[in-house]
Parts: sequence; structure tokens; C-alpha cells
Amino acid sequence: MNKTPRPDHVTGMRCTICGKTYLPGEVDYVCPDHGNEGILDIQYDYDAIGRQISPQTLARDKTCSQWRYRPLLPVLPETPAPAAAVGWTPLYESPRLASALRLDTLFVKDDSRQPTGSLKDRASALAVMKAREAGADMITTASTGNAAAALAGMCAASDMPCTIFVPRSAPRAKVAQLLAYGARVFLVDGSYDDAFELCLKAAAEYGWYNRNTGFNPYMAEGKKTAAFEICEQLDWRCPDAVFVGVGDGCIISGLHKGFLDMYRLGWIDRLPRLMGVQAEGSDFLYRCWKAGADPVTFPAIRAHTVADSISAGLPRDRKKAMESVTDTGGAFLRVSDEAILQAIPELARATGVFAEPAGASPLAGLHAAVDQGLVRSDAVCVLLVTGSGLKDVDATIRACAAEPRVIAPTLDALDKAMNTATRNQES
Ligand SMILES: *Cc1c(COP(=O)(O)O)cnc(C)c1O
Ligand SMILES: [Zn+2]
Repeated sequence: MNKTPRPDHVTGMRCTICGKTYLPGEVDYVCPDHGNEGILDIQYDYDAIGRQISPQTLARDKTCSQWRYRPLLPVLPETPAPAAAVGWTPLYESPRLASALRLDTLFVKDDSRQPTGSLKDRASALAVMKAREAGADMITTASTGNAAAALAGMCAASDMPCTIFVPRSAPRAKVAQLLAYGARVFLVDGSYDDAFELCLKAAAEYGWYNRNTGFNPYMAEGKKTAAFEICEQLDWRCPDAVFVGVGDGCIISGLHKGFLDMYRLGWIDRLPRLMGVQAEGSDFLYRCWKAGADPVTFPAIRAHTVADSISAGLPRDRKKAMESVTDTGGAFLRVSDEAILQAIPELARATGVFAEPAGASPLAGLHAAVDQGLVRSDAVCVLLVTGSGLKDVDATIRACAAEPRVIAPTLDALDKAMNTATRNQES
């Protein structure tokens, strides 16, 4: 049971379906009237927050992690954060990538540099803190891989045990991380959705704290720190559009929340367009958006894509994700696996940032948006790179479609090899 006490600046948790508001501790995770669909949104007292933190106080703050925004996060002041440097990842300007896309300016936010290699650390760090506040002695999640790796890593950094459910098909690098961090791991013989259902049942049965995305209301709150960083790193200019890969829809919802927080605090004067990028084989939200349909009742699809981190047949945070796009005048973009794979070396060669397929998908989405005339050449765009390429090296080897050549350890052999026609660095 989640008996989370209430931090003073949190006023409630509002059901995204019926609007009913609960106090933390009053319900566990979701609105009891709406079951798993009744995802709650954390409500804040912005006047109280504004008295504690502002762009001016931040300018003097030397904290190089997402905890520089702690007054905007739903945790008690005394709860210890995991001993890991989560957040405050670099925002690179990339003139080369910009010119390849015929844009004036383009930024890349590099969350591949998080402690466990994905943006999920932002949320998992918060999950461990909320589990502590709730007095839990075990924390659990189902995941396509990164949320699990992040939870296992943050638990290791906090001395908290965890039990993880991942689909059997999860990439080996992600499973290796779980084992290294000492998590108890179950490979579920089924899809991510099967693993998710099993995890919910297990958490209820054994009384574990549940980190599941699109269920635990605090996860979007952790992910929103990426939005704060983007604006602060742009000197409180708001970008025109932010591109992000979308699976369950929690990251894009978190971004939306973060930009809304800053807007409500008067730190920015508008919101960027949020551009959700989906793989062709996992395009629930794209289809639903095109059809103008209600995401809560829209039928699930069978998801399959090389970008495992954005594979979701029934996105858990679909309602909030849809609102993130529609409320900001953004768009969903649908890109092929081929385009996603091509984006990996393109991004790496132009910026030095090596992304896993889902992390490179925003670049594929930006290409599609430019082709469709959805972004003007003077728009300031940000690509959110959500995960490291080291998470899935097989995808990259496929993307580069070239094996390096074996040569004898002599200059002569090198000279011959360099003069033969095989060129494997051409894109
Ligand atoms: C989880 C994840 C995403 C998608 O986030 P959702 O909240 O599921 O939409 C994108 N990229 C990476 C690397 C991820 O781990
Ligand atoms: Zn409700």
C-alpha cells in the first residue's frame, strides 16, 4: 500500500478522466472509479513554489542534477535522493544537422548520458524516493527494458531491493544491466503488455511499491525535469518544437507537464509544440490522432518495431499523450523502422551522440515533419535523445550495414586495404 505523506506544495492528485481530486495517501495510484485508465495528475500550489524557486535562484544554484528543481517535484524535503547524478544532461546545438534539414537552428538534448543510459532515470529516481516515503520494502516495475534498468540502477544507488518484469524479447544489454545491478528479474514469456498486467497483480498480491509507467502518477513528474532543463539551457527561451519518441506516452506527457509548470510560474510565455514520433509498427497514438478518436476507447494494436523502447500496443498514458500534442498544436509523426535505423548513424556522425533506435526516432520524425511542411526553417527545434546506442548494438550494426575489415598488422596490409574500393563509412 502506498501511504505517501503529502509534501506541502502538493495540493492533490486529479483524475485525468473524471477530474476528481484526491489527496496523496487517499488513493494508491489511480482513480478508483476508473481503474487502470484513471491516471492521476499531480496538482501543485504554484504560489508557494514560486516563493522558493525562480530563474534567478536557479542562476545561483550549482546543483548539477535534476534536483536543482526539487521545489517543483512531489517529494518531502527530507527524503534522500539516490546517490546518482540524474539529469542536467547537455543540450547541444548542431549546425550540421540543422543544415542537413534546412533549418536555421537545431538542438539535441542528450539523455543517453544518464547514469543507466536513458531518460527513465529521471522517473525511477523519484520512484525510489516515493517508495521510501511510503515505507515500502520492495519496489517493482514492468518495462520494455529501460525503465527496468533505470529502476534497478536507482535502487542499487539507494540500497532498495526491486523485482522486475521484462518481456522475454528485451535486448540483452538491458537485461545485463538488471543482472549487474542485482535486481530480481523475471523474463515474461509474452509481450510488454503481458508483463505489465503480471506486475500489477504481483504488486497488489505482495504489497510492493509499483513504479509502472502510466499507472504511478509520479513518473511523469520525474520526466518533466527534461523540459525544465531545455528551457534553462536556452536561457529561458522556449523552443518552438520538441521531438520525442512515444511508446506509452509518459515522456511526452512529462514534457507537457514541465512546460506547463514553467508557464504557470511565468518563467516562459508559451508552450512549444510537442511532436510525438511513433514507429510504423507501433502507431496507436498516430492512428488515433489522425482519426480524431478518443484514445481511452480506441482499440489496441499489435505492436512490433525495431525501436523496442517505443513499442506499445496500448499506450498506458495515451490520454495525457494525446492532450500533450493537441493542447500544444503539435503533431504525431509516423516513421518506418528503416528511417529510424538510418537516423542512428546520421545523428551519431553529425553530433557525436549515439542513440538506441527509440532515441534516434526524433530525428527520423523531424525529417518527416520537414518533408510534410510541419516546421518552418526558422523554428527552434529540440530532439530529445532518450536512450544510449549501447543499449542495443545489434540495431546499430544493422543500421550501418557494414562490417569493418580484418587486416594483417602491417602498414602494407593497411595500405592495400585503404586503396581497395570497399568503403564502409559512406551513408
Ligand atoms: C521509454 C522510452 C521512450 C518512450 O517513452 P514513453 O513514455 O513510453 O512514451 C523513448 N525512448 C526511450 C529510450 C525510452 O526508454
Ligand atoms: Zn476518475
